[in-house]
Amino acid sequence: MPHDTPLIATVVAGLGLAFVFGTIAQRFRVPPLVGYLLAGVAAGPFTPGFVADQALATELAELGIILLMFGVGLHFSLNDLLSVRAIAVPGAIAQIAVATLLGLGLALLMGWTVGAGLVFGLALSVASTVVLLRALQERRLMDTERGKIAVGWLIVEDLAMVLALVLFPAVASFQGDGTALTSDPLATRFGLGLTGVLVLTLIKIAVFIALMLVVGRRLIPWVLHYIAHTGSRELFRLTVLAIALCIAFGATKLFGVSLALGAFFAGMMLRESPLSQRAAQETLPLRDAFAVLFFVSVGMLFDPLSVVREPWPFLATLFVIVVGKSLAALLIVVLFRHPMATALMISASLAQIGEFSFILAELGVALNLLPKAGRDLILAGAIFSIMLNPLVFAVVDWLTSRLEKPQAASPTVATTEPIPVTDLRDHTILVGYGRVGSLVGDALHRRNAPFLAIEASDDTVAKLRQRGIEALMGNAARASVLRATNPAAARSLVIAIPEAFEAGQIVEQARAANAEIRIIARAHSDAEVDHLKGLGADIVIMGEREIARGMIEELDRGHLDVASQGAASAREDSEA
Ligand code: AMP
Repeated sequence: MPHDTPLIATVVAGLGLAFVFGTIAQRFRVPPLVGYLLAGVAAGPFTPGFVADQALATELAELGIILLMFGVGLHFSLNDLLSVRAIAVPGAIAQIAVATLLGLGLALLMGWTVGAGLVFGLALSVASTVVLLRALQERRLMDTERGKIAVGWLIVEDLAMVLALVLFPAVASFQGDGTALTSDPLATRFGLGLTGVLVLTLIKIAVFIALMLVVGRRLIPWVLHYIAHTGSRELFRLTVLAIALCIAFGATKLFGVSLALGAFFAGMMLRESPLSQRAAQETLPLRDAFAVLFFVSVGMLFDPLSVVREPWPFLATLFVIVVGKSLAALLIVVLFRHPMATALMISASLAQIGEFSFILAELGVALNLLPKAGRDLILAGAIFSIMLNPLVFAVVDWLTSRLEKPQAASPTVATTEPIPVTDLRDHTILVGYGRVGSLVGDALHRRNAPFLAIEASDDTVAKLRQRGIEALMGNAARASVLRATNPAAARSLVIAIPEAFEAGQIVEQARAANAEIRIIARAHSDAEVDHLKGLGADIVIMGEREIARGMIEELDRGHLDVASQGAASAREDSEA
């Protein structure tokens, strides 16, 4: 029976096209995300051929945002959030103000009203959660001080946008014919004014947060614990997902908080449970799939010809997003006496706009605050700023490596980057200082062997440096980080991280830098062993095989014991 299945068609087309375009992008050494955006353009209404359901795609993308923010919450403690408030709160507010003014100026130049200019400016001032988090995760910056500042900044922007979304209808209603347009039933019923709506919103946010901190903090870990004890993996996964989605959705429906913020708090509450690490792992694959759909759905909204039709307003918008906004953020962070590297990284991660801007633009157009041309400019600005973002990061990496003075030995980790090339020669490079790497590293340390470690967690790096062990912070798969370990002069490289694809990238780069270096890597399956060997690893130790070997040894030892006991008693018997 033929029937219409728009949801399936959208998911299939979205993921299928993203796969094709992402692979092509990778082939040409462009970040796959550019491929996902192009996949969206291909599936969108402005290009010939298949047209996917835009509304559905946008909703699917929201799922991606929920899962991403949930994951971030899982990494974040309340203390982390509070520890960066001194910079994140004023920084985000000042940056929103500057970007809004820039947008307003541009709007006035184009002959729009002040109201339109404010909406336009606000839309240009908020960065995309997905893009920012992807950039941080890709660079393994999530556990660093800068990563925490960036996430704190994002949360403040998020809160500001929640307020803006509530205030727009109220402002529009006061500007226009006086009919209340606010969507809030409470505000409508009591005929609240602008201040009333604002206060009501703040109260709702406060109630939500209080509820999460008081009830959620106890209830959620308890539920998770209970489910974990049932022993069903499937049920555990389901629980994690259900908690994340229900809280995000409930927060939006009941408290007017954004889905992303709701999910973030859900994650933060789960963090209180010792099972949180597992919970994070469980949501990873889903999260990645839906994050891809986010980029596809953004691409779908874009009309490539709009840029050609009106190039100057487009270029000016892009300039505000990529240059204006970043410079503002840079100045603010430097004013707060954070190092240049931190300032550069934060401004790079904010040099783009995304989902919030679309929501603001849609609402602005619906309320007749913003002309349609404004929405098109915001879309074009988003697409190009997202595409340019990896490039912006590359420029920042380059600038950072030029600007910063060598100061590797300082224990204040995240503030001392970038790392100059090590002075060590004939040394061992140890990648990852977790369960495996720490054992290897401690052994090397005891033998006084020259070595240095690369670790993605800044806590670990700080501890290593306190012990006088040379350690670099960052993702070892990144060329700039690996280069600083001087692989060309090293004797061996031990890759003790669990992720085989990343390990493969490290093997490839190290082998290219030094044909002689002895590379020992870690794997979890035969296929991974082959993969790593194919890329140039000399020895690949498969963890599971070693576990089995240990078990067999124990068994043999047991048998020997039994056998020797048997022999002894036989001897006793014969002697008797
Ligand atoms: P484990 O699986 O317990 O041996 O931990 C692996 C360790 O490697 C963790 O401490 C991670 O922070 C670290 N790690 C994982 N991937 C990378 C990477 N690409 N670069 C640097 N450190 C990493």
